[in-house]
Amino acid sequence: MPLTRCPKCPRLDPLVRCTTKRTENGNFGREFVNCESKAQAGKALKQCHFFMWLDEYIAALGICRDDMMTGAAPEQAVDSRAYVATDTLAAELKNMNANLAELKIMNANLAELKKMNADLAELKNMNADLAELKNMKKLFKVFYISLISIGVLFLMMNH
Ligand SMILES: [Zn+2]
Repeated sequence: MPLTRCPKCPRLDPLVRCTTKRTENGNFGREFVNCESKAQAGKALKQCHFFMWLDEYIAALGICRDDMMTGAAPEQAVDSRAYVATDTLAAELKNMNANLAELKIMNANLAELKKMNADLAELKNMNADLAELKNMKKLFKVFYISLISIGVLFLMMNH
């Protein structure tokens, strides 16, 4: 994979790809790119500490290519020293935007769930009402049957 030159300093050589030997934060073996510029006596060039995890760097480059495909001027892009940094920010923003969109969807789903819950509660209520109605029907049936039986009995007694 060709590496770009450092976006943070005037050094023309490309960034260097390395693998971390540090075990902190579970980063052992993770690849990164950094700038090899060293402070030089008598020169204005200061040591640059540009550092980026390789996956973040690739993600930032991916955005670069997208921009090129959508017609952004690539020369201008390469000239911009803050380019990769800006793009990382843009990538992060995009990510945050995507997360926000997801959150909004989750929120909408939650609202729907709440509504469904309310509907369910109403259904339960209706179910209870129905059970009560059935009970009342049964009672009425018993009542009417008794009434008719008593009526028949009276008729029979009067004959
Ligand atoms: Zn640099």
